[in-house]
Amino acid sequence: MREIGHFIGGKRVAGTSGRFSDVYNPATGEVEAKVALASGAELNAAIENAKAAQPDWGATNPQRRARVLMKFVDLLHRDMDKLAEALSREHGKTLPDAKGDVIRGLEVAEFCIGAPHLLKGEFSEGAGPGIDIHSVRQPLGVVAGITPFNFPAMIPMWKFCPAVAAGNAFILKPSERDPSVPMMLAELMLEAGLPAGILNVVNGDKEAVDGILDHPDIEAVGFVGSTAIAEYVYSRGCAAGKRVQCFGGAKNHMLIMPDADLDQAVDALVGAGYGAAGERCMAVSVAVPVGEETADRLMEKLTPRVENLKIAPYTAGDDADFGPLVTKAAHDRVKGYVDKGVEEGADLVVDGRDFSMQGYEDGFFIGGCLFDNVTKDMTIYKEEIFGPVLSVVRAKTYEEGLDLAMSHEYGNGVAIFTRDGDAARDFAARINIGMVGINVPIPVPLAYYTFGGWKRSGFGDLNQHGPDAFRFYTRTKTITSRWPSGIKDGAEFVIPTMG
Ligand code: NAD
Repeated sequence: MREIGHFIGGKRVAGTSGRFSDVYNPATGEVEAKVALASGAELNAAIENAKAAQPDWGATNPQRRARVLMKFVDLLHRDMDKLAEALSREHGKTLPDAKGDVIRGLEVAEFCIGAPHLLKGEFSEGAGPGIDIHSVRQPLGVVAGITPFNFPAMIPMWKFCPAVAAGNAFILKPSERDPSVPMMLAELMLEAGLPAGILNVVNGDKEAVDGILDHPDIEAVGFVGSTAIAEYVYSRGCAAGKRVQCFGGAKNHMLIMPDADLDQAVDALVGAGYGAAGERCMAVSVAVPVGEETADRLMEKLTPRVENLKIAPYTAGDDADFGPLVTKAAHDRVKGYVDKGVEEGADLVVDGRDFSMQGYEDGFFIGGCLFDNVTKDMTIYKEEIFGPVLSVVRAKTYEEGLDLAMSHEYGNGVAIFTRDGDAARDFAARINIGMVGINVPIPVPLAYYTFGGWKRSGFGDLNQHGPDAFRFYTRTKTITSRWPSGIKDGAEFVIPTMG
């Protein structure tokens, strides 16, 4: 059985804790590898390595650091097929979608090539007699990222690219469910010229996460995962005096106004609701048609589309809409939610629970499910399902639809489909959700903007990627200097002002 260890000090090392977690091929249901779960001692070794390597890297000029990322981008293109295959094999998503996962991370690496510009401080000449003030952004030292299973290429890159471009050393604790790609990314960074010890991958579970949160030499932690763990990581990391940002779960609504282009809205709903088997924090999981007539017309067009979704293992070619869920536990959890929806009285219009594929009977597949007449009090509305399940909640008016999205505890993404500019503008201004799409179903901002949810989808300050990532992984120092040094104005006992 293939064993996946850690990447510490510029090389792969075997795990020594004696604890492992199974890594599945979700399409076949078979265990294909075992990933090591780090002990505290293994984590400490990685942190020691990072700490020793960081001062030289932090003192390397930013243009040289940026060149490593430039080369890294080339290597990602070179190895795209290999990365996508490894990703699909452990995650289950289709190959084109796996390439998208790599590319959305690569785009953040491209953005980080701008580090010399992004790290520039400010300068005020003559702020007082002979006095100049300037500010610099300095790396924090050793920082960490803890990432989820659903984007095993993109989210690690969102974390480590800006952190290392800013001069930090990095400890990545990726998901134990699909650990191969993060290890490959670390190797590519080394090949691109990153010094050993600057990017370390420590595989593990709660023990490694707690070790990161409690370690005095880790200055900052960026986390992405489910809300319960995000909240835990945030409070424990903050209690240990670290800078922490945590991004959690979601329940993304899409309002469909009576004047919307319904064919466009239906395309958007099937892509954003069922792509990656719904295992995306920006998946649309609630459709809110406004008005009974809009709802009836929508259901008429949507139902056959969901019935005809193509589900297949990634090896079946580029034709599939989505693949299996990541684990048997995820499969059973999603199925349990669908059972619960039926029990609580929602109308299950398309039932994918019994989906099975010849030759892949042990895979973690579930077909697309579509509920109509879902209400606010139902569990399938309140909780994140993270599977190919779309709930339709009918709203009588625009205000009712807006209020529905605003009252939900999650606030990651939201969308409105309409031809009415007034409605779209009003929606964007009033909604209390971090990322808004207008006739765009998955409004994931591009690398040069920032990504982050509100309410219980995000804890802490500053967003991911874009300029915020450089703010998160650096601290500002402000220097006030006086030249020529000979100016003498005596001892001052009153706080100096510019009055
Ligand atoms: P998860 O919370 O189970 O795991 C995330 C990370 O936390 C992993 O590295 C895991 O090893 C670790 N972890 C798990 N249990 C832990 C525990 N008890 N103590 C300490 N650490 C623990 O999340 P997941 O299932 O891998 O990912 C799916 C979730 O991530 C969904 O809720 C999804 O919405 C969310 N997500 C959010 C964003 C965002 O930017 N808001 C992006 C992608 C995914």
